[in-house]
Amino acid sequence: MARSSGVAYRKSVVQSSEEESGCRIVVAGGGFAGGTLALALARLAPKTCRVTLVDAAPSDAERDPDGRGLALSPAARNLLNAIGLWSRLTPDAQSMDAIEVTDSPLNAALRPHLLGFADELRDEGTKAWLVEAGALLAAIADEVKREPAIDLIAPDAVESFDCDPFSTNIRLAGGRTLRASLLVAADGKKSRLRERAGIKCIGWSYAQTGIVATVAHERPHNGRAVQHFLPAGPFAILPLKGNRSSIVWTEEAETAKRLIDDDPQVFVDELSRRFGHRLGTITLEDPPRAFPLSFQMARRFVGDRLALVGDAAHVVHPLAGQGLNIGLRDVAALVETVTDSVRLGLDIGSPTALARYERWRRFDSAFSAVAMDGMNRLFSNDSAPLRTIRDLGMALVDRAPGLKRFLVREAAGATGDVPRLLKGEAL
Ligand SMILES: Cc1cc2nc3c(=O)[nH]c(=O)nc-3n(C[C@H](O)[C@H](O)[C@H](O)COP(=O)(O)OP(=O)(O)OC[C@H]3O[C@@H](n4cnc5c(N)ncnc54)[C@H](O)[C@@H]3O)c2cc1C
Repeated sequence: MARSSGVAYRKSVVQSSEEESGCRIVVAGGGFAGGTLALALARLAPKTCRVTLVDAAPSDAERDPDGRGLALSPAARNLLNAIGLWSRLTPDAQSMDAIEVTDSPLNAALRPHLLGFADELRDEGTKAWLVEAGALLAAIADEVKREPAIDLIAPDAVESFDCDPFSTNIRLAGGRTLRASLLVAADGKKSRLRERAGIKCIGWSYAQTGIVATVAHERPHNGRAVQHFLPAGPFAILPLKGNRSSIVWTEEAETAKRLIDDDPQVFVDELSRRFGHRLGTITLEDPPRAFPLSFQMARRFVGDRLALVGDAAHVVHPLAGQGLNIGLRDVAALVETVTDSVRLGLDIGSPTALARYERWRRFDSAFSAVAMDGMNRLFSNDSAPLRTIRDLGMALVDRAPGLKRFLVREAAGATGDVPRLLKGEAL
């Protein structure tokens, strides 16, 4: 498995606030959303904008390995391509060529799929790709280090900030101060910046845990992903490069804990029951990891000279692999908003500019989050009447090619008001 990376973020020297002039954007958080945003601003926004990236994460050597396989939409791939990341990921990226959805009981002799996608995924504009989270983080870290237009401060953390009429004054835990036109909170689900700005969230924790592991198997998957809805939650097999797959196994929290703490052979036996026989014997490539699952939506996506992106703004159930894809839509929308504002000679941190970003992203994110939540509630139960309704629904969708194409385009990030970078267009 690709580990976080061999490349560590290093501290760089950045000018203190007194020496700053012009338009500076400070991005707090160098993870998937923040790192991508910093690269997009540095490489694609007007050159008059300087970017500082502050990341609290320890060096890669100390970072926890992240065993997830991330499904990236074609729209997300367009963004990564525009900022020079996709070519680095291609050799190890696996295309998702077919998706099968079933909710057969585990002990059923056959597991016919109720809904399948294959023809709809042939077009490059609809095909999703699987990349390993560690490989993506490593590529981001490496490109950030190579990018002269990014001033990187790491490891350090944004501790507090306050605004005057023309800028936001930012204090770091390490003692430095920075002044910027705009501060971006890309500091993840437990965003300290969001809290500091007094922005509340709507949300709840699921009584479910996402178990994640990478599995090697005897036979090839041929690019086929499987989504198996079981009473405790969805079990997904996502194809990785080679005879390997990433699993996202949603279980009741107690059962998940027991499975992870138990004898590894018991875990593999349970996993094999869920895999069935199609891929042959399976072996674990790394120890399974547990992710507590929650729903979270910030009530505002902006504050005074502050914009929220990624998990700082929204956290969705991972059943459709959309969390980061939605975060990358934020990134593309914010870069476009900043670029348009600079070209018009407007202040990038003004309420007008930020209101545009919020209008663009808040409803779209809420719609996706609620859709994932609804799907999880509809499928994660053993109610006979609900099973009948959803099986009928899936069978009907399977027979409606137009609707299937729409669903695939929706998951591909090709519907609604799509930011230019996600459409593969220049800014
Ligand atoms: C089991 C599971 C499977 C998933 N699968 C998929 C999938 O297939 N496809 C998909 O699109 N999404 C998926 N997701 C969602 C995806 O993982 C998240 O949306 C994504 O990781 C969020 O990235 P982020 O950059 O917003 O936050 P994070 O990855 O949490 O990064 C936050 C960063 O901010 C830094 N930080 C924190 N505080 C500060 C501070 N004060 N100052 C500076 N830096 C700070 C941290 O060190 C970190 O580097 C999945 C999620 C789970 C749980």
